[in-house]
Amino acid sequence: MNPFEYAQPNTEAEAVALLAERGSTVLASGMDLMPLLRKSVVETERVVDISRVESLRGIEAVGGGVTIGVLSTLEDIACNPLLADYPSLKDVNEGIRAIQVQQNGTLGGDLCHLPNCWYFRSGYGLLGRENGKSLPEIGDNRYHAIFGNAGPAKFVSASRFAPALIAWGAKVRIAGPEPDAEKWLPLEEFYQTPKTERHGVTVLTPGQLLTHVWLPSAENKVSATYEVLEMEGLDWPLASAAATLELEAGRVRTATIVLGHVAPTPWFSLVAADVLVGQPVTPQLAQAAGEAAVSEATPLSENAYKVRLAQTSVKRALLKATNQLEGGL
Ligand SMILES: Cc1cc2nc3c(=O)[nH]c(=O)nc-3n(C[C@H](O)[C@H](O)[C@H](O)COP(=O)(O)OP(=O)(O)OC[C@H]3O[C@@H](n4cnc5c(N)ncnc54)[C@H](O)[C@@H]3O)c2cc1C
Repeated sequence: MNPFEYAQPNTEAEAVALLAERGSTVLASGMDLMPLLRKSVVETERVVDISRVESLRGIEAVGGGVTIGVLSTLEDIACNPLLADYPSLKDVNEGIRAIQVQQNGTLGGDLCHLPNCWYFRSGYGLLGRENGKSLPEIGDNRYHAIFGNAGPAKFVSASRFAPALIAWGAKVRIAGPEPDAEKWLPLEEFYQTPKTERHGVTVLTPGQLLTHVWLPSAENKVSATYEVLEMEGLDWPLASAAATLELEAGRVRTATIVLGHVAPTPWFSLVAADVLVGQPVTPQLAQAAGEAAVSEATPLSENAYKVRLAQTSVKRALLKATNQLEGGL
């Protein structure tokens, strides 16, 4: 591990100032960052521990929606009554199946989570390259992207909450790098697919901090997340889908379908949404939406099996959101 300075600010302004000064990295609960620092996969001059910044905690009703501070734990999100009408978020927490992660992992840490790609985690960089070659392309790519993989990035976005939050139309607040600078942007615009090693997985630039997530009102909407996991215990999904539907007289008025763990960013499926609008959700329609969602998949040499899993995730998320998911399908 390379040596680095440790700073523990008490306010957002102090955190932004510390982050802006020089090559610094945000530390939340550190579950993912600490192992990466230990292995020198992430190198930094300063770690800025934001755990004492009270303004980054809390879940509040604001402007007809709900604002969630990035230090909220995954369990805070699952248990808060203000979020009871957003069941797709609770689904995510239930899928994690590890009390330590649920009680310590933070929303910010999940949203900014670096890829689980084994080439990245073995020190080959985000794009996993060696001697000018893409290791995911020529090597073991069974857990890699089946969408958005035409460029050099083949990893999948690691965030478990992002698909559900994006399907709800969430916005995120970013503070910095100037002392009073802040902006809100749709969560889907927070993610980017890196084209070179200089780019990150989010649009955050040095000196910026993710501070809050805002969710619009859940009125008249239903939602669910369905994750396909290989193991019963602590595991990352092979594929997931989040659905948020606005229903009117039993028919879908609006639909937002977002897939997770299948592309370098959370992956919108506009074609699946098109299949649904104007129709009542039936098992047949859910199947058709799943098929549409994967119609443009471009699997790599060893991950074609993920296409079927993504299709099934969409189908089951739709059936779950409309209380029609019974046992295996
Ligand atoms: C051995 C182990 C196995 C795990 N396995 C799983 C698993 O199978 N499934 C699962 O879902 N989780 C797993 N986790 C937990 C995982 O680390 C979490 O998803 C957790 O939510 C990360 O939150 P954190 O607060 O610990 O993030 P940290 O580790 O503190 O941060 C994660 C990343 O986000 C950045 N970051 C954090 N907050 C902000 C912010 N506000 N602004 C900008 N950047 C920020 C950090 O710089 C870092 O790059 C595992 C953890 C461990 C230790």
